[in-house]
Amino acid sequence: MAETIDGRALARSIDEQTKAEVEALVAAGHNRPGLTVILVGDDPASDVYVRHKVKACDRVGMRSTEHRLPASTTQEELLALIDRVNASEHVHGILVQVPLPGHIDERAVIDAIDPAKDVDGFHPVNVGRLSTGTGGIWPCTPHGCIKLLQSVEPDVEGLDALVIGRSNIVGKPVAMMLTALGCTVTIAHSKTRDLPGKARQADIIVAATGIPEMVKGDWVKEGAIVIDVGITRIEGKDGKDRLVGDVAFEEVQHARAVTPVPGGVGPMTIAMLLANTVQAALSG
Ligand code: NAP
Repeated sequence: MAETIDGRALARSIDEQTKAEVEALVAAGHNRPGLTVILVGDDPASDVYVRHKVKACDRVGMRSTEHRLPASTTQEELLALIDRVNASEHVHGILVQVPLPGHIDERAVIDAIDPAKDVDGFHPVNVGRLSTGTGGIWPCTPHGCIKLLQSVEPDVEGLDALVIGRSNIVGKPVAMMLTALGCTVTIAHSKTRDLPGKARQADIIVAATGIPEMVKGDWVKEGAIVIDVGITRIEGKDGKDRLVGDVAFEEVQHARAVTPVPGGVGPMTIAMLLANTVQAALSG
């Protein structure tokens, strides 16, 4: 049986560490670390994500501010708000919840955030820092994948890693992080030839496609470590909805370790967001 990597437990222990760092900063006379979340429009899923993030701030003793703007907000109004929070000494992290309404240019909004407060790690300065190995703020979900991987194998130097997916928010950054740790990385995508063959050679597989259970048992070599980022709601045999990942979890039990869905990568994203906010407060 593969070890099931418990993302909820690891996220809790990272939160404990973050909480201790928050109190240490305050005790040293710093402003209490604060996260500002900006939500434009009334997308119900985004509303849930924002509420989770605000609750998580409370849990670790961080300040949080919510800006809920109507869907009719213009790009200029949003950019003006970002200018204001960029300048606030009480705000250490800024997160603009996506998707934004169609009339707003997402890239212009991300570019407007002060890179030192870009706790999502999507600003080109932080992307550049990650890819040049010069620090910066690392994006939350990929960083969470690395923490999960290192919880079972702290030293991954020299291992062969396959990242399936090349998105800017998961695939590419996770591949950069694995490269920085000394892995030999292959990035696969929808045009990749013989993906099962490539997967069978990998010591580490990070699957981030959103295709339910695409990674089959015979794609995974004995003893590999499998990190499943995908999360899709499908209808089960009993007619009830269930969440599944990109990996056929039951088929890969000959792996050394695998993350479950739910309860693997998912819980790590918010934990890394809070950790990034403390990092921003420390360097601010
Ligand atoms: P995305 O932007 O849609 O990217 C999907 C990637 O998968 C693309 O690079 C695509 O290749 C590749 N792909 C599609 N079909 C493929 C195939 N048949 N073989 C190999 N590669 C294929 O998705 P994303 O935003 O990276 O997210 C991926 C998954 O992670 C989704 O299920 C999402 O819900 C989940 N996710 C979870 C969290 C979390 O747990 N907190 C956070 C973010 C994302 P091309 O580039 O060639 O099209």
